[in-house]
Amino acid sequence: ITVLAGKRVALFGLGGSGLATARALKAGGADVAAFDDNQGSRDKATAEGISVVDLASADWSGFAAFILSPGVPLTHPEPHWTVGKAKAAGVEIIGDIELFFRERATIAPSAPVVCITGTNGKSTTTALIAHVLRSAGRDVQMGGNIGAAVLTLEPPSDSRIHVIECSSYQIDLAPSLAPTVGIQMNLTPDHLDRHGDFEAYGAIKERLVASADIAVIGVDDEASKQMARRRAASGRPLVKISGEQPLDEGVFAGITANQGKLDTRIVQVRDGKPRVVANLAGIGSLRGSHNAQNAAAAFAACDALGLSAEEIAAGFRSYPGLAHRMEEIGRIGRVVFINDSKATNADSTEKALTSFRDIFWILGGKAKDGGIESLTRYFPNIAKAYLIGAASDLFAATFDEDGRVTYERAGTLAVAVADATRDALAQAGEGEIAVLLSPACASFDQFPNFEVRGDAFRALVKALPGFVGFGA
Ligand code: ADP
Repeated sequence: ITVLAGKRVALFGLGGSGLATARALKAGGADVAAFDDNQGSRDKATAEGISVVDLASADWSGFAAFILSPGVPLTHPEPHWTVGKAKAAGVEIIGDIELFFRERATIAPSAPVVCITGTNGKSTTTALIAHVLRSAGRDVQMGGNIGAAVLTLEPPSDSRIHVIECSSYQIDLAPSLAPTVGIQMNLTPDHLDRHGDFEAYGAIKERLVASADIAVIGVDDEASKQMARRRAASGRPLVKISGEQPLDEGVFAGITANQGKLDTRIVQVRDGKPRVVANLAGIGSLRGSHNAQNAAAAFAACDALGLSAEEIAAGFRSYPGLAHRMEEIGRIGRVVFINDSKATNADSTEKALTSFRDIFWILGGKAKDGGIESLTRYFPNIAKAYLIGAASDLFAATFDEDGRVTYERAGTLAVAVADATRDALAQAGEGEIAVLLSPACASFDQFPNFEVRGDAFRALVKALPGFVGFGA
């Protein structure tokens, strides 16, 4: 990225995306002075030739810009110390999304870019859009708050579509943000630590759609509905989306649950005329009715980018889901194998337990506060539980006290997968049965992280006799 070539810039935060940004700026000829409060991060940057400078004692008047990594507080609960330094010296504070948009403005101003924000469903919608576009043969780059940092992606071009998930932090630091399609999913109180109050948080998210050529806005919550009203009043292109109610204009995804899968009908209303544009049995591997809104958003975005309804529907059908989040690995007969390794606490596991009725549940690891006591209301859905890792005693005690769940102490993931599969296949009856890894625990007692745990589960499942992968 060459927009800061020849300039001296300060950068704080040398985690994944900060380091990637430092690298990209340096490669583009900027003179980067980077810093992090963490010694390990500083050492790592130094080792690859990034110039680490103590920004606490640096002369800030020489910096042309200050690049702040996502997640480093700009305002609440209190600004990071670097923010004070930058402001005192009158140095502008920006993030990597800003750099991306400045670069686009110089090299390919009309390159298509889709940006997605909202409180919930950002990653699902981002990944779904990228998948649909790719399966229709488009050249797609996906990143931002999901996956790769934007500056590690291929540069913008007229024949390539960037699909970027934006957190409110990233929008806040991107004054030049101006996507082709801007999506605001929904707005509920969250992340108020940094933005102070709900209104400020909403105003930041609204900038993303206000700056877009085409705004796609969810109308299933009051704050987003207000944003749609203001957009409509501006007279600029707007597509309203809902996963809850038919609309007078826009895209509505209606979902009927069918054994945990979603029968989905998408209705597009244009000039007051409704048209059913897709009738789907399931949205790929997605489960849970909250995905209706995500499907409506993805349809609206891909439609705005010129895909046909048939292309979009085909892309939905083959959507594999995000790895480790309710990821459908595949099946043996009516037994479906679900990798929900990312569920490291009871709250996240709750989503999985509501999505199936007959569950062979693999759980455990390093327990978090509160254990699984909050999940007892879903225990009737559990056919049997398989305990692994350090939390076994704690969770066994919860099951014993409740008295409704049959369980075994499997110990390791390998034993749990073998036993759960054996038991699930032996179960009589009809309908879908799930072998579910949704640990409600951190992984650190047995695995370096949740990804390695999920990969191990996937490998074990794929090796089972008779296994058929998703989409095969
Ligand atoms: P984000 O990237 O915004 O955190 P994800 O797509 O990763 O969102 O989904 C996180 C969780 O939020 C999901 O597990 C699901 O429970 C919930 N969720 C997903 N989509 C929606 C939606 N449209 N509305 C409300 N909740 C949702």
